[in-house]
Amino acid sequence: MKLNVLILPGDGIGAEVTREAVKVLQRVAEKFHHQLTLTEGLLGGIAIHKTGTPLPQETIDRALAADATLMGAVGLPEFDQAPPEKRPEKGLLGIRKVLGVYANLRPVRSYKALLDSSPLKNALVDGTDMIIVRELTGGIYYGTPRGIYENGAETRAVNTMAYTRSEIERVARMAFHLARNRRKKVTSVDKSNVIETSQLWRRVVIEVAAEFPDVALDHLLVDNCAMQLILNPRRFDVLVTENMFGDILSDEGAVLAGSIGMLPSASIGDRKPSGAWVGLYEPVHGSAPDIAGQNKANPFGAIGSVAAMLEYSFGLKEEAAAVNRAVEAVLNSGRVTADLKPSGPPASTSEVGDAVVSAI
Ligand code: NAD
Repeated sequence: MKLNVLILPGDGIGAEVTREAVKVLQRVAEKFHHQLTLTEGLLGGIAIHKTGTPLPQETIDRALAADATLMGAVGLPEFDQAPPEKRPEKGLLGIRKVLGVYANLRPVRSYKALLDSSPLKNALVDGTDMIIVRELTGGIYYGTPRGIYENGAETRAVNTMAYTRSEIERVARMAFHLARNRRKKVTSVDKSNVIETSQLWRRVVIEVAAEFPDVALDHLLVDNCAMQLILNPRRFDVLVTENMFGDILSDEGAVLAGSIGMLPSASIGDRKPSGAWVGLYEPVHGSAPDIAGQNKANPFGAIGSVAAMLEYSFGLKEEAAAVNRAVEAVLNSGRVTADLKPSGPPASTSEVGDAVVSAI
């Protein structure tokens, strides 16, 4: 298969972890005989330094031409006081918009070697393997009217939670497609006992479910879901929910895995004529200026993002599984970075990347 991938290393540890993720991608292409074409682009602080803007037109053109994009992280302390359009983070929001990605996927798995890093008891978290699918472009973060209104003696603030049928349909359909390749279960999360947008959400999800008779659907109210994620995380396969609920629940899910450095993410848009989903893949963490340039960042989140890319954008399940198995083998070997608190001396970022490459 031809894999045409754009790499946007970004700033700080973004560049360090992306380097290791690229090594892993190259190893997969070699082992499974895929034709990998890599291009690199500028995004974030490094792009401001070199071109004056966090998202140069050249990067946009390359992202639109690529099958998938792998990002590191953006952000440099020197831009903390800069105006919004001159901040690295503007590039991140811009590239998501350009690619039209509307669903954020966060796989959450427990690894045996990291069970003690989870705040939950081992017996509860062991075997957790879910994907949280968060709607990314609608809901209360974008609805209008919005604002803070001064009205005589009283001040009033307003936000609007709004969803259209088509916005719900496309993200629900994505969740069912994902479930079809997993344990065939979708849990839709809403607040339909109180909120009208949730009532429409539930109605549309039930309609979409009819297209997927092989996938089981259940519903949870968001407050109960917050409890179930802690009480029984193994019950979830694919969890789909609207923007704000997903923002909150995905961070709750994130702590189950142990360290922020472990977590991959994927932001997905429409399908291309080839059948591949448009995808932007990145670790959940930021540019970590406190440890940048020291070769000690945990690259597993970036490497897991490569596995997500192989699976979602290219449909290469076996290759994705090979990466995930290699990550697990390296975790079990104890050759991990300092954030995972190894019993012996910590491995460096590049040593971990090399170990994953040889495990593949
Ligand atoms: P951060 O995720 O960069 O760091 C938080 C803490 O976690 C730090 O102590 C850091 O050392 C540690 N950490 C993060 N990733 C790690 C890894 N892979 N291995 C080991 N330790 C790791 O968040 P922050 O400090 O709030 O933000 C720093 C910069 O990153 C800011 O400019 C922020 O805007 C940006 N940021 C970017 C993204 C992104 O590009 N998607 C996401 C979050 C933050």
